[in-house]
Amino acid sequence: MAMATRIAVLPLLTPEGARRLEGQGAHLSYAFSKAELSSVAAGIREAGFSVVLLPAETLPAEAFNPARRQWQSTPIFHFARKRLEALGELQTRLLVLTDADIYEPGLSFTGGMAELGGKLALVSLARLQSGDRAKLVFRAKKEGLHELGHTLGLEHCRDRDCVMFLSRSIADSDIKGSAFCTKCRAVLGRAVK
Ligand SMILES: [Zn+2]
Ligand SMILES: [Zn+2]
Repeated sequence: MAMATRIAVLPLLTPEGARRLEGQGAHLSYAFSKAELSSVAAGIREAGFSVVLLPAETLPAEAFNPARRQWQSTPIFHFARKRLEALGELQTRLLVLTDADIYEPGLSFTGGMAELGGKLALVSLARLQSGDRAKLVFRAKKEGLHELGHTLGLEHCRDRDCVMFLSRSIADSDIKGSAFCTKCRAVLGRAVK
């Protein structure tokens, strides 16, 4: 019998976010604490995946665009792919969690992205914050599962109770469910246990 898909969670933080994780520097409302990172990883595990939380690293400096004060996705995905290849496990997906505000060329910002049917997914907390820490962590779990669903071939789902429902805002993210619906789960098959 096939094993549940293995997910490596890689925190890739801004220099400020990395200091916050170490308990130094000014408080950033959207940066993670260690407990929050563990909680997001646990949420992914509860969905039926096999999860490993990798040590946090600082974002590759070349991804920063000083003119926009944002971070570009392409160099981050290059960096993440190297980390994934270093793990040497062909079936593993890698989920990047970041506090950075991310953009793709041609877009103002992106809260999450994934390679459809690929290996890499990313969730940014920068636009998910609203001052409520527990909600922020819950949103990160949902959006993480959503992007991982894309890597496993799932497209957007019309069921509002399904985590694959498309969030266009924080309100959407809060309304939608935190698990895969029966139909999406059937598509995932043995990827989840
Ligand atoms: Zn999506
Ligand atoms: Zn669904």
